[in-house]
Amino acid sequence: MPTLTYLGIEVLRLPFIRATSLGHEVLHNWWGNGVYPDYALGNWSEGLTTFMADYAYKEREGPEAAREMRRGWLRDFAALAPGQDSPLTTFTSRTHGATQIVGYNKAAMVFLMLRDLLGRDMFDRGLHAFWREQRFRIASWADLQRAFETVSGRDLHFFFDQWLKRAGAPTVHLAEAKHSNSDSGNVMAVTVEQGTPEYRLRVPIAIQTDSGEEFRTLDLESARQTFTLNLRGRPLEVILDPDLRIFRRLRPDEAPPILRQVMVDRTTVTVLLAESGEARDAAQMLAMKLQNRAPKLVVADKLPEAPSVVIGLKDQVDAWLAKHQLPGRPEIVDGKGSAQAWTVSRADGITLAVVSARDAASLAAVTRPLPHYGRQSYVIFDGAKVVGRGSWPTRAQAVKVQ
Ligand SMILES: [Zn+2]
Repeated sequence: MPTLTYLGIEVLRLPFIRATSLGHEVLHNWWGNGVYPDYALGNWSEGLTTFMADYAYKEREGPEAAREMRRGWLRDFAALAPGQDSPLTTFTSRTHGATQIVGYNKAAMVFLMLRDLLGRDMFDRGLHAFWREQRFRIASWADLQRAFETVSGRDLHFFFDQWLKRAGAPTVHLAEAKHSNSDSGNVMAVTVEQGTPEYRLRVPIAIQTDSGEEFRTLDLESARQTFTLNLRGRPLEVILDPDLRIFRRLRPDEAPPILRQVMVDRTTVTVLLAESGEARDAAQMLAMKLQNRAPKLVVADKLPEAPSVVIGLKDQVDAWLAKHQLPGRPEIVDGKGSAQAWTVSRADGITLAVVSARDAASLAAVTRPLPHYGRQSYVIFDGAKVVGRGSWPTRAQAVKVQ
């Protein structure tokens, strides 16, 4: 039944569905059930539907809401362990968290970058052409590429190739910025680096000057490139991709850890601080629910050499953190609720998820809810009820101008 998408009445009753999934499912009448994806070559329909429904809602709400959605996508991607993602051409449907992060979110951001590259008008014309040519047919990413190339008259081979056939994401690094004066005024040389394989990227930067902010877009193609810019004011600081418009792997200081990255990492080990009794049983059950597998237990007296879930009662947790010279309980969770969970970045780059509870019953109470809060950096529970949560603040990549 082309163009027909069902949503069960039980689902439709849920309070948030009408503002989120309903629009997404309606749009599938076009993308997925009007033009059918060629699954063998990658399912493009979830990314396009996410971009034109879920993300469009956020854009309608305002630039801040849209940026927060992009930030969430990039942060989720940064929380994937290396090797957990795969190229978009291999995505068929959502089977676990990592496939959503790539098949839905990365793909949606690919459409955003394409729209930034072509302009909104050209992008819309490309989509209209795709619909006219492909409706009620099976179409692939290559057909999308051809539609956008035909209307824009541009060769988009490099764009689709790098974003669809490669796993992972580029890493972009602002290396340095130097100011000099010339006859024409203020000149700045800014050097940008990227990892391998190299991508062709349009990198937005913001430049803080003594007479306000200026914006430029740099066409980055190689591993290290220096761009010379003429500016109106005297430059003070350069900020990389301030609006988070390119799909890239955020650096650890740009994306502080969230609970999920410890939960999904296959190398994660578990430290249970209670040695026996009810607290031990509750901790073990929680460790299993968090990781969706039997936890790999390690002893408490050594600091693990892998990402770790650390679970215990309050005094045990505080003593363990102190013994291993790790940062103590963060102020924002301290003394609040009956149980708390938070992430810790160790100096050596390894991430911990710490769960601390007042007693065994408080630990048991979070077994069911805590796995649903993987996108947070910290969560505070009173019994099974969440009374506080959030993520550690992100920091934009910036460099002072010499
Ligand atoms: Zn969908």
